[in-house]
Amino acid sequence: MKLFLSVDMEGISGIVDPTYINPDTGMNYGRGRVFMTEDANAVIEAALEMGATEIVVADSHNTMNNILWESLHPKAKLLAGSPRDYSMMQGLDESFDAAFFIGYHTRQGVPGVLSHTMSGVVRNMYINGQVVGEFGFNAAYAGLYGVPVCLVSGDNLIAEEARALIPEISTAIVKTAVSRTSAICLSREQATAELKHQTKHALSRLADIKPLTFSQPLELAIEFSHAGQAEMAANVPGTRYETETGIVRYNPVDQHDLYKTMRAMINLAHNAVFF
Ligand SMILES: [Zn+2]
Repeated sequence: MKLFLSVDMEGISGIVDPTYINPDTGMNYGRGRVFMTEDANAVIEAALEMGATEIVVADSHNTMNNILWESLHPKAKLLAGSPRDYSMMQGLDESFDAAFFIGYHTRQGVPGVLSHTMSGVVRNMYINGQVVGEFGFNAAYAGLYGVPVCLVSGDNLIAEEARALIPEISTAIVKTAVSRTSAICLSREQATAELKHQTKHALSRLADIKPLTFSQPLELAIEFSHAGQAEMAANVPGTRYETETGIVRYNPVDQHDLYKTMRAMINLAHNAVFF
């Protein structure tokens, strides 16, 4: 059994605000890296007990150099560093039996610890009209390979966001959001136990979890924070900028096109000057 772990940072146990996740300025960043590695290890240990034979861990936050390689479980392989064509999902293909999204967070504009969608330029992102955050987008990408997402970990609100798209998903809730930068956190011991318990639960009912699928043709739509960003994103060939809604639309031909075009649109949008 081959498993893919995409590990973000905002939803990791004990992490509540940017001081834990910003590699340049975060006074708690060093601790955040330890917590992130410990969460990944809890899932890996439980997955190995359930018969996993190969585990790839994709560090999926910021520059993607956060997990402490020297402390990661010796049976797992670590994908670190950036840029990557497929960002948080680099390395996934149809050979995997399941994907786990660890340390994930809610989408831009809704409550939840450190909520956002990919970057500050995105107000809303849609696939075929369905609003998606990072969870939904990455789950849709996995779905195009036929790979189900069987576990999400993070706060109570990302658990809800995930269940709305994949009702059968297992959820390891390691904190309860109080505000966007505050949460009531389980202890290290309890969070580890919950991650292990939910990993085992997820893998015991893997056959019941369907990949997230959308009908073809796919439509990716991104609503940007301001018009200058939308104008920059609309430089991607094949996109259509709807000026009345501020949405840039695109019809990707496959999963490669979906992920790379999303990244290209957002990266271009970053070049727009606001003031
Ligand atoms: Zn992140």
